[in-house]
Amino acid sequence: MSEPRILSNFIGGAPAPVHDRPTLDVTSPRDGSLLARVPMCGRAEVDLAVAAAKRAQPAWAKTPMKERATRLFALRALLLAHLDELADTCAKESGKTVAEGRAEVLKGVEVVEFALSLQNLDHGASMQVSRGVTCELRREPLGVVAGIVPFNFPAMVPMWMFPIAIAVGNAFVMKPSEKVPITLCRVAELFAEAGLPPGIFSLVHGGADVAVALTEHPDVAAIGFVGSTAVARRVYELGTRHDKRVLALGGAKNHLLAVPDADPDITVQGVVDSFTGCAGQRCMAASVLVAVGDADALVARIVERARAIELGGGMGAIIDEASRARIVAAIAEAEADGAKVLLDGRAARPADPALAGGTWLGPTILDQVRPEQAIRHHEVFGPVLAIVRAPTLKDALRLQAESEYGNACSVFTTSGAVAEYVAEHATAGMIGVNIGVPVPREPFSFGGTKASKFGQGDITGESGVELWSNLKKITRKWEAQPDATWMG
Ligand code: NAD
Repeated sequence: MSEPRILSNFIGGAPAPVHDRPTLDVTSPRDGSLLARVPMCGRAEVDLAVAAAKRAQPAWAKTPMKERATRLFALRALLLAHLDELADTCAKESGKTVAEGRAEVLKGVEVVEFALSLQNLDHGASMQVSRGVTCELRREPLGVVAGIVPFNFPAMVPMWMFPIAIAVGNAFVMKPSEKVPITLCRVAELFAEAGLPPGIFSLVHGGADVAVALTEHPDVAAIGFVGSTAVARRVYELGTRHDKRVLALGGAKNHLLAVPDADPDITVQGVVDSFTGCAGQRCMAASVLVAVGDADALVARIVERARAIELGGGMGAIIDEASRARIVAAIAEAEADGAKVLLDGRAARPADPALAGGTWLGPTILDQVRPEQAIRHHEVFGPVLAIVRAPTLKDALRLQAESEYGNACSVFTTSGAVAEYVAEHATAGMIGVNIGVPVPREPFSFGGTKASKFGQGDITGESGVELWSNLKKITRKWEAQPDATWMG
């Protein structure tokens, strides 16, 4: 068997091989096969990437927006031309299904489309504010900016950040997740093929060392982070201590509320797709179902639908054995603490023998979870649904509000009044009505509240433009005016 390749960084518009660094194996969670080795870089490689970015950025900032957008048009075309390949790579390294890989690349393409559409928007403003005096607003890039991303969306989460940041004139240095670094290597090659000037998009592989080096680097102006809450908080504190702009998205514990008037078909589908999609490894996944009133029939149908999911084809794998062990331990703890296991995925394995070496766990449903149980509060990040029974909608909303996290909350109802009540009172950044995964599509921005986000604004949409740029205000006068004001 030939040795797997060692991934290169991408610096100055070309692959930059790394020597003399330890490597980690990148294995496929689907079948355990070794896909590549990733070098665990450090400050030296970060310095190289940031220096190349710093050299390239001023010319890119001076390039007219319409010209910058042509590189994004070309990137979009290449991403679509290579969609099958990217979806496949993404699925292999993250464990998700190829259909899910495809969907995430397409969602990333949507952000590229938003970014290239910025050329058609007027980002400044100009107004005569006093006689003979004009004020003008101008958007300026920040310089070199950086992103640190999680394992669960190898393509989409990075694409929340760099298309917008680059469109507004920055140079971007990305640290891929060391667990899923391969898809982004291909995206970087495609961006170079799209004619992006060298140095404007770079990759440095590694883990916390690279993330910390980027977050402390004096020439990095802003950090976009997506990952667990513990690390998000740490990166936010470190970055702001180093006077950087930081937006750090963290973990989640999304509560779905089902009220008695809910349409059973839409509810069953919405809840099951939400907690099993990407094997529950989504920050928007349903984690707790608060079933209001007598919901036994609904719960039975949820169990029946989840039981029918075929591992491998219908649902992907868990990222690694450590994650699987953590999820299994959380299920066991909840069971020992009184939860009733309605569906147990702990021994489930795919029928396909080719997937025998993968990291598998079937959908698991726990009923009669008490509000104070750990499984209702801690992020499990796996295909596990904890069902809590509540007598009224107000009780359900009180439970949701208790969560330290505030990413998403959905309600299943046929009543507009109930939907409106939840939209007003739920303490989350993204609200769904009869939608299990209420991800806003562009141009609506993505971002939660509470411990799901540290920093101002959101990561995509117009908020992304705010994140990666500054507003400069220019006030001009060319002639002396007879009615001189305080500005005279
Ligand atoms: P993680 O926090 O372990 O890692 C995220 C990134 O941080 C990785 O690139 C990792 O190398 C780096 N990192 C790890 N330890 C670090 C440290 N001490 N200092 C600096 N950087 C460090 O997250 P993960 O396991 O890769 O991803 C899963 C988590 O991401 C879940 O909690 C999930 O909810 C969250 N997530 C959130 C969103 C969102 O939009 N809010 C989206 C996707 C994933």
